[in-house]
Amino acid sequence: MIRMAAGERWKKSHEDFNKKDDFYKLGRKEQTSLFRLRTGHNKLAKHMFKTFRIGESEMCKCGHSAETTENILQECLLYKEVREKIWEPTAELSTKLFGPLIELEKTINFLELAGIHP
Ligand SMILES: [Zn+2]
Repeated sequence: MIRMAAGERWKKSHEDFNKKDDFYKLGRKEQTSLFRLRTGHNKLAKHMFKTFRIGESEMCKCGHSAETTENILQECLLYKEVREKIWEPTAELSTKLFGPLIELEKTINFLELAGIHP
């Protein structure tokens, strides 16, 4: 059996998926922000604290949960007002992160309005 490097294997299995992912229609800066939200490798408190011991804790400034992608996009009360301007309450995290272009743009818009630099 010929073994492909993990990276190659990933690329092959994701080729078709990538073409359909509207992520690639975003500008470079927007892609960076969204990529960080998708992967969890971002400047939000949980990752910074757990991985780098930067900051005082993994908690969000709201004090209710760790600051993660899901917290800021779905739950955090600090961003409730901005969130409600952009999405219906039923909007799902997966749509915000992996939906069609119009949905991804909403997420970028949310970050801008909320002043979040993930
Ligand atoms: Zn919060």
